[in-house]
Amino acid sequence: MKYLLDFDHTLLDTEKLKQQTAKDGRLDLVGTPEFWKHYAVRDFLFPDVIPWLQSKPKESLHIVTAFKPSQGPQAKAFQEAKCMSDGFSDHFESVTVMEGEKGTVVVEIAERFSVGESVVFVDDRLSQCLSVKEHLPHAYCFLMVREGEVPKVVPAGIIAVSTLAEVDGMMMQL
Ligand SMILES: [Mg+2]
Repeated sequence: MKYLLDFDHTLLDTEKLKQQTAKDGRLDLVGTPEFWKHYAVRDFLFPDVIPWLQSKPKESLHIVTAFKPSQGPQAKAFQEAKCMSDGFSDHFESVTVMEGEKGTVVVEIAERFSVGESVVFVDDRLSQCLSVKEHLPHAYCFLMVREGEVPKVVPAGIIAVSTLAEVDGMMMQL
């Protein structure tokens, strides 16, 4: 089993980080790699993230995260620095920072896996789940809707979860 995981709003409580950044008066640093000299992602992860990652072999864990060009010329470097913040990327076999829809990128990553390997994709954006489902139909696609977020209607083939443990629970049933 291989896990391809989104970062913001899936592993990282991005809203909590935004609120802290505003409180600290450091919004000017958002979108720059320097931001991550002042903050560490581990302080803003959802509480289930580290124990869940530690329960999996590192070789099975991959980040696939999209940067937002609207965040400026350093947007990609900002996202890369975010993933590497305080050694967080050490939990993962690979980290892919990309732009746009994830479907084709996920196909490229999955080509490195053994034939028949189960691929689990988790993202809080329905458009990304649909993109992956379209390009890699055998992938198990989970829409992460964290506690407190507005429930979303999901089409057939996509499974909504609110924790990483629910992903494991569903995979045991499938
Ligand atoms: Mg996200």
